Amino acid sequence: MSKIIGIDLGTTNSLATVWENGKTVLIPNSFNEFLTPSVVSVDEKGNFYVGKTAKERLITHPDSTASVFKRSMGTSSGFVLGGNRYLAEELSAMVLKRLKQDAENYLGEPVEEAVISVPAYFNNLARNATKRAGQLAGLKVERIVNEPSAAALACYDMHTDTTMLVFDFGGGTLDVSLVECFDNVVEIIAVSGDNRLGGSDFDDVLMGHFIRQMKLNYYGLTEEQRAMIRKAAELCKRELTNQETVIIHVNDTDIQGSVSISRRELIQLSADLFRRMEIPIRQVLKDSGMGLDEIDEVILVGGSCKMPIVQKYLCHILRRNDIQVRNPDYMIAEGLGVYVGIKERNEDIKDMVLTDICPFSLGVGVVNREDVSAGDKMSVMIPRNTSLPVSHVGEYVTVRDNQEHLVVKIYQGEAQLVKHNLLLGELDLLVPKLPAGMAKVDVRFSYDINGVLQVKAKIQNTGEEKEIVIVNDKSGLTQDQIEEKLEVFKKLEMQNAEEEENNYLMNWGLRLMEQCTGQMRQDIEQRMDYFAHVVGEGIPNNITQAKRHLKRYFRHVDQYLETHNIFATPDFDFASWYQSENEQEEESQEQKETSGEYDEGDAEQEYQEWLKSMGL
Ligand code: ADP
Ligand code: MG
Repeated sequence: MSKIIGIDLGTTNSLATVWENGKTVLIPNSFNEFLTPSVVSVDEKGNFYVGKTAKERLITHPDSTASVFKRSMGTSSGFVLGGNRYLAEELSAMVLKRLKQDAENYLGEPVEEAVISVPAYFNNLARNATKRAGQLAGLKVERIVNEPSAAALACYDMHTDTTMLVFDFGGGTLDVSLVECFDNVVEIIAVSGDNRLGGSDFDDVLMGHFIRQMKLNYYGLTEEQRAMIRKAAELCKRELTNQETVIIHVNDTDIQGSVSISRRELIQLSADLFRRMEIPIRQVLKDSGMGLDEIDEVILVGGSCKMPIVQKYLCHILRRNDIQVRNPDYMIAEGLGVYVGIKERNEDIKDMVLTDICPFSLGVGVVNREDVSAGDKMSVMIPRNTSLPVSHVGEYVTVRDNQEHLVVKIYQGEAQLVKHNLLLGELDLLVPKLPAGMAKVDVRFSYDINGVLQVKAKIQNTGEEKEIVIVNDKSGLTQDQIEEKLEVFKKLEMQNAEEEENNYLMNWGLRLMEQCTGQMRQDIEQRMDYFAHVVGEGIPNNITQAKRHLKRYFRHVDQYLETHNIFATPDFDFASWYQSENEQEEESQEQKETSGEYDEGDAEQEYQEWLKSMGL
């Protein structure tokens, strides 16, 4: 049997794992990194890029690059890339395909099956869209695991009974869950969250701060300027993770100034975000009937949990002196690896069981006798937080004399009125003409461990049955469309590692060119030309050397942009700056890595000679 992989399909980054030799192993991508940015881009020739290369193209080719599409899973909103429209599930499929390919390279064998994690708050439509994405990527996806369950699994020490609060704070979402672990069983007790709260909200706050401090008019800024400021804001946020105060200098022809911000100020500016962080915590405690003192462990997941101000705030509201921080980036993937181990029935963990719950209420619409004009009311069949699998029957009757049709509309959500909940599907039943209340229907909801809802209706008077399985829904691709797209996806081969890296470098350079002006921009361009020239010559050793050289140079430019400016000044003497930086870095990691065959000085000299030969 081929190996199963676990995939943490994140809004910002994605990551794959396997279970090997009794532990979770993270799978590196072609850049030898674990995190692959969840970004997809397409070029003029119709080539697709996924991950790091695509992320570079976000700034240079915003019209043909998509990110943050996870938020749109299970909706019909599309992303236009290079003139074609794609659903979030198709873009996710490309990310999955990339991870599948990286896993195959790593394992040296084909991979056919994956377990994918989703936020606990993902509704049915989004879960099904995730499954279809797997199918499109050529992966069998039997099991969708809630992200917090996976995180708990990563931390569970099988010998102690523990109650955990999992706080997953990512780029765009917050998920809070209470998980109980006892006798090898990991059980979710309650989940809550905020689909619209994440690290990017802090970026927005910081961006707003810069704009106000510099007395700029947001609407007067170009798209590009906004993207730059947003990028600088995110960097500033990350720096605040290491420092108390950060100063950002902006030096563009139109925008000039320095703005400082401290952690304390960020807390004040984000008061509203902190208040919102507290709500789901209260909710899970309320739903589970537990007190703060019953929580044994707090598990921090997601990049935004790295922020010290978030950690401090959590200590404060959870009344703890300190919360242990493991690696928030890998937590879910680590747990998924464990889950894969369980699924493959590995000897060491096969007795472990992961139970799950239904994260939202499911029910049918019924006539609202109190206020007909407000529309139907929700009759809950399966309340949220019910353990899965679950099956429940309810009886419904006609409301009018001689009523011929009884329409069972299936909803998901917590609102009293169905119009505020999500319509999942409907069953139109032909019932015998009888006085009101005499035609009766039994409706059975069965919700399985994979989040697939089956609704069966049986007309009591005639014994006739009708059922609906809510797997494929209107928002996403139909099975026919999937078959069709599968053909397209099969042909959509990803580039090999070599091409991928060259492309990444070119796109990195294009982005830097857009960010710089004057001499610096010209220098970047010439170095890229030189690189293209070396690649054209096709001598492998030279290409490797030129690649290293260019990477190092780009890294310096980026470093410069990050620490000094968002927009490089036209008259800055980058060449001398680069040289002095280079000298300081003599003992750098990179030089240690490279054996005698590579010398930074030689590479620079060859470039300079080429410049001369070109008359530049
Ligand atoms: P998702 O699960 O949504 O894909 P992640 O868990 O990867 O997201 O978290 C991404 C978020 O974490 C981003 O908003 C990013 O800015 C933030 N982040 C990552 N590293 C840091 C850091 N060192 N300090 C502060 N925020 C960080
Ligand atoms: Mg996440």
